[in-house]
Amino acid sequence: SVVYLNGEYLRLGEARISVLDRGFIFGDGVYDVVPAYGRKPFRMGEHLARLQRSLKAIRIETGWSAGDWEDLVQGLLARSVLQDCTVYLHVTRGAAPREHSFPTQPVQPTIFGMVSSLSRPAAVNRERGLTAVSMDDERWLHCEIKSISLLGNVLAKQYATDAGADEVVQFRDGHLSEGSSCNLWVVKYGILRAPVRDRMILEGIRYAYLMELAAAAGIPFEARPISRLEVGQADELLLTSATREILPIIRLDGRPVGAGSPGPVYARLRADYDRAIAAL
Ligand code: PLP
Repeated sequence: SVVYLNGEYLRLGEARISVLDRGFIFGDGVYDVVPAYGRKPFRMGEHLARLQRSLKAIRIETGWSAGDWEDLVQGLLARSVLQDCTVYLHVTRGAAPREHSFPTQPVQPTIFGMVSSLSRPAAVNRERGLTAVSMDDERWLHCEIKSISLLGNVLAKQYATDAGADEVVQFRDGHLSEGSSCNLWVVKYGILRAPVRDRMILEGIRYAYLMELAAAAGIPFEARPISRLEVGQADELLLTSATREILPIIRLDGRPVGAGSPGPVYARLRADYDRAIAAL
């Protein structure tokens, strides 16, 4: 497949970066993942705006405009044979002698992009739901940055895998944060709730999007801290991400969530999400 690296479109096997790249050495970079259906990007503007925010947060200057990023996404999609896919965008501070503080000499950031195949959620996951295990959120205090330093997220996902579960439900100081690579939502008495968008979670592009879908469907929404007890007593527990779209979690720590099957708020938002993809 074709990838983009520092100004060139190449075959994946031809793409090379320096071992001194600060992404490799320090995890000093940020990324984003834009889903595309039938090679049409979904919510691209929002994803690119988030990438720019992440870059600004860690003070990497690419000199790229929103239009330049859009051209890269479209350039990758135009060269791809995949229909449903993700466009992965990755920027590091570049290659420089190993020293923690930023390079004093100007360095070109490394800019990498690739297209990967995207399998939409399987029927079994959509219709029966997922399982999850809870754990303490042990990540850092800047989860709003879409950092390529993903060790905490990797270890969290492996905790789920080792437990035979699909995902983790993380709590920081007794309150819900997010999954290993997804946002989490609870439903109680028909009200949809999510944690506040602060530094403890990554603001998924589906966060504002689900708020829009909920408003259009007349489902009340509230952002506020959500306790462990509230998660335990929720009628529905949902996750959202670019690749998993929206899916229900029907068992948490071996116990059923609500009725133990996907609920009505999920069903409505799921149907609306599907309709939006079909209308692209
Ligand atoms: N939270 C984390 C930690 C993530 O890695 C992701 C990415 O998928 C999300 C939330 C959801 O974000 P999005 O809806 O933009 O995919």
